[in-house]
Formats: sequence, C-alpha cells, structure tokens
Amino acid sequence: MVKVTNMHEMSYIARMVSLAIEVANENKAKAVKSIEVTIGKTSGVMPYYMHKYYPDASKGTILEGAELICKEVPVTALCEECGSEYEPVREHNYLCPNCGGRKARIIAGRDVVLTNVVIED
Ligand SMILES: [Zn+2]
Repeated sequence: MVKVTNMHEMSYIARMVSLAIEVANENKAKAVKSIEVTIGKTSGVMPYYMHKYYPDASKGTILEGAELICKEVPVTALCEECGSEYEPVREHNYLCPNCGGRKARIIAGRDVVLTNVVIED
C-alpha cells in the first residue's frame, strides 16, 4: 500500500486558494498581493507544508506570485462556569486557571481559516 503523505495540508491549501480566488473575484481584483491564513495549533496543519504546496496550488490563478502568510494561533478555551478565556495547558489538567472549572469550550485554535486577502491596487 502506498502511503500518501501530507494530504491534510494539500487539501487545506487547495481550499484556502479557492476561497481567496472567490474573494478576489468578488472584489474584481486584477492582482493579489498576499493572503493570510490563520492556523490553529491543534488543527494538525504544518505551515511548512502549506508554504510548500502553495506555489502549485496557486499556479495559473490570480494568486500566482502572491505571498502566503501563515499565522499560528494557540488553543483558546472559554470556561462555561466563569466565562473567562484561557489557553488550556496539560500541567493544569486543562482546568480553568480562574475558577478551576472543568466545563470549557474550545473557541479558537482548531481550524484553518482564511483571514485576509490583500488586493493590489
Ligand atoms: Zn472558570
């Protein structure tokens, strides 16, 4: 069996590229300067591979030659007991540092999101 590596990043970069093209088209852009992608720490996506696959994914599109900026964001949890936001850490058993509560929702850091498309004037 052939192991296909890094399909994860490949599919994400393809998605980000098509989203950015949509945004560029909606804004009737003639050229795109850069696109910015926010990558959650637990998304399992490595910026290194995003950069690696980006030239191929953007080839022949309006994004060809535009810069790819990857921003990594930490995981953020929202405590449902006291309402505070925090970065869960294993050392604290992922408990809320404010009230020690166990009920928390992950509100950031899990997804890969297209956060900006800079269009050339
Ligand atoms: Zn709390």
